[in-house]
Amino acid sequence: MRVLVTGGAGFIGSHFVRELLSDAYPGLAATQVVVLDALTYAGNPANLDPVRDDERLLFVHGDICDAPLVGRLMQGTDLVVHFAAESHVDRSIQDATAFVRTNVVGTQTLLDTAVRAGAGRFVHVSTDEVYGSIETGSWPEDHPLAPNSPYAASKASSDLLALAFHRTHGLELCVTRCSNNYGPYQFPEKAVPLFTTNLIDGLTVPLYGDGGNSRDWLHVDDHCRGIALVAAKGRPGEVYNIGGGTELTNRQLTGRLLELCGRDASAVRRVADRAAHDRRYSVDITKISEELGYAPRTGLGQGLADTVAWYRDNRSWWEPLKTGTAGAGGRAHR
Ligand code: NAD
Repeated sequence: MRVLVTGGAGFIGSHFVRELLSDAYPGLAATQVVVLDALTYAGNPANLDPVRDDERLLFVHGDICDAPLVGRLMQGTDLVVHFAAESHVDRSIQDATAFVRTNVVGTQTLLDTAVRAGAGRFVHVSTDEVYGSIETGSWPEDHPLAPNSPYAASKASSDLLALAFHRTHGLELCVTRCSNNYGPYQFPEKAVPLFTTNLIDGLTVPLYGDGGNSRDWLHVDDHCRGIALVAAKGRPGEVYNIGGGTELTNRQLTGRLLELCGRDASAVRRVADRAAHDRRYSVDITKISEELGYAPRTGLGQGLADTVAWYRDNRSWWEPLKTGTAGAGGRAHR
């Protein structure tokens, strides 16, 4: 099976590629894995170092908006797993241009070329942020989309385009919508790696508003296993929520990280809230659990402890990213 993975040098895409090449996913025996990645600030070839010597891996440095290139790579592809995106909400508030270009136009380019090349299956990796914010209960997949940030709106646009390509052209496509991920190799602008690396270095961490915004935290490994299940067995045209981590407010998450890093509440700095900051996300995962047998495996306690240990042990991975990143150590988090 030839698999095309877009954004495979990013946080989640690289985890998927490392696991795929470890033959961790039943029903997905890859004979070739083509990673297409533009290596933006968030893309890092080092994320693929553990599988660099695998002969099945072909890394292509390129843009998903480049139709001729994507068209060539799409030939003979059995499965497309589309992770590539601009992914950071705060950056989309500063300037949404790259978000519309990559997330919307890039996705449309992939969908068009997939149809023309007669590609096999296509998994579009979306996010729970397309649903907006929910006070109580959880979103089922047929809940109306009501994105609030430019990032979420661009993801909702691509998510709807993807479903339209299934209905219009019969593309064998599924959409996944996942909750907040954490784990190793996450760019240190997102909450968990930013806070962890700041705390390791004796710095303060910026907590938005009253810290009461609530998220369902899922280990990246559970997200990728959910994607693999959808790729292998998902029904074309269907959306599958992925989640089932542990719901925590940002205040509670910060408390866990302080404890794991041996710091106290004096390390927390309150900052003004993010514009249009969604209060709570919660996905209903009944569908993927019942249809595809999905269940998260990594509990938050162990997952966070392992993640903090990974950042402690891998300073050489994150330090250059932080020193080279405008605003790192500042106030950015998802
Ligand atoms: P990331 O920012 O770490 O990685 C994105 C990757 O896409 C990078 O390697 C980057 O170089 C690449 N890329 C960006 N623009 C490109 C372009 N024009 N052409 C080719 N490659 C390009 O993001 P992530 O956290 O790994 O997220 C991956 C996907 O999962 C995204 O689609 C995101 O919306 C979705 N998602 C993320 C989360 C989360 O918590 N991080 C949760 C749910 C869904």
